[in-house]
Amino acid sequence: YQCDVHELEFHQAVQEVLESVRPVLERNPEYRKQAVVDRITEPERVIMFRVPWMDDQGQVHVNRGFRVEMNSAIGPYKGGLRFHPSVTLSIIKFLAFEQVFKNSLTTLNMGGGKGGSDFNPKGRSDGEVMRFCQAFMAELFRHIGPNTDIPAGDIGVGAREIGYLFGMYKKLSNEFTGVLTGKSLAWGGSLIRPEATGYGVVYFASEMLQERGQTLEGRTCLVSGSGNVAQYTTEKILEMGGRVVTMSDSSGYIYDEEGIDADKLAFVKQLKNIRRGRIREYVEKYPQAVYTEHDPSLDHNPLWSHKADCAMPCATENELCERDAQNLVNNGVTLVSEGANMPSTPGAIDVFLDNNVMYGPGKAANAGGVAVSGLEMAQNSMRLGWPREEVDSRLRQIMHSIHRTCLHASEEYGMKENYLAGANIAGFTKVVNAMLDQGLV
Ligand code: NDP
Repeated sequence: YQCDVHELEFHQAVQEVLESVRPVLERNPEYRKQAVVDRITEPERVIMFRVPWMDDQGQVHVNRGFRVEMNSAIGPYKGGLRFHPSVTLSIIKFLAFEQVFKNSLTTLNMGGGKGGSDFNPKGRSDGEVMRFCQAFMAELFRHIGPNTDIPAGDIGVGAREIGYLFGMYKKLSNEFTGVLTGKSLAWGGSLIRPEATGYGVVYFASEMLQERGQTLEGRTCLVSGSGNVAQYTTEKILEMGGRVVTMSDSSGYIYDEEGIDADKLAFVKQLKNIRRGRIREYVEKYPQAVYTEHDPSLDHNPLWSHKADCAMPCATENELCERDAQNLVNNGVTLVSEGANMPSTPGAIDVFLDNNVMYGPGKAANAGGVAVSGLEMAQNSMRLGWPREEVDSRLRQIMHSIHRTCLHASEEYGMKENYLAGANIAGFTKVVNAMLDQGLV
């Protein structure tokens, strides 16, 4: 399968899955006859639309909106919305494709989709973000529904944006339904949803460690990003006795040799979620830490060059290249658990697998977020809210089960502890078999 110059990220994601499932296709000639590869790589539906909105000065802007409804074989489309200037159809298709396998692994009945816009919320007022969200939902609302397609958050779409999107959906449809997840607790959200992706990343890491008779206790971790996933990954690492020494944003990263403790993490949450500031402000508050500005001329990211035991990339796709992976291995890292979607390039993954690194791919390690979104949908349907302990224990159980599923699938095909192959094979097989059961549709 050759990478095309078009839709690079989408082709990268497809190539990775197809390489893993080659032995499955060889073992099942019927799959070839049924053209399952062509069917699973083609979205069921792609929706692209104009989003016109007005800024605080009365200037009109036009952005592009997307929703890729990738696969509904095992449930309604489910997946987040991303608002970031780098959003293209390729990015949304890769994310939707990944989501199909991830959702399949969660044990819940959810198909895969993803959406978003090239709108940049950075530096925009609350009023501008609200008007953009309303304009976006003015088109999206006709394509989604609690039994059809249930969006959630992703980069640039947090609690504030979900609120504005939900408000507009409710007004247009005249219905109060669980059409979005990641809602505020007061109006249909689930406890633990904000924490779920990050907590899940660490639960998955701890499952991988346990498999080799190890724990997170006393281990030093490199975390990238400082948004939702990075914050709760850091929180859970601290709770499990580990140490976090880095965090970043798109402008640069901080290295705090003393460790980012609970108080410092509270500062980061306030800085990023409330003040919407930059991570460089961390060193103004904690001068012993070092800030390094992002340098696009470098062929590697110095964040991944520090001595550590574990790495949790939690910012964005392709943020960790082959050279970074080599630096991690040279500096003692033996575990990588991905919070972001596809953060490691194919070359980086090869380095991890060649060096026997415990490598938890995003579609398995970060599935906790969508899993708790599934639990939010279940609570909405029952019009009930489960206590924090119950949701957290279900999340933990789901991450345990995803880990076992990946392990068993990799063993079945003679690739023990290759969690990437295991995740792709298990996710693929379940979805493809459901598609075949349902005939040519
Ligand atoms: P947020 O918007 O909360 O945070 C994103 C973080 O990554 C910010 O620190 C941001 O920096 C940084 N970042 C974003 N784009 C880039 C870039 N191009 N280069 C460098 N840094 C960048 O998003 P989330 O934490 O929700 O998402 C992070 C990753 O996790 C994404 O890959 C997402 O798809 C994935 N994910 C999220 C889930 C969720 O439940 N939220 C579920 C599963 C996966 P800055 O502040 O400068 O923008």
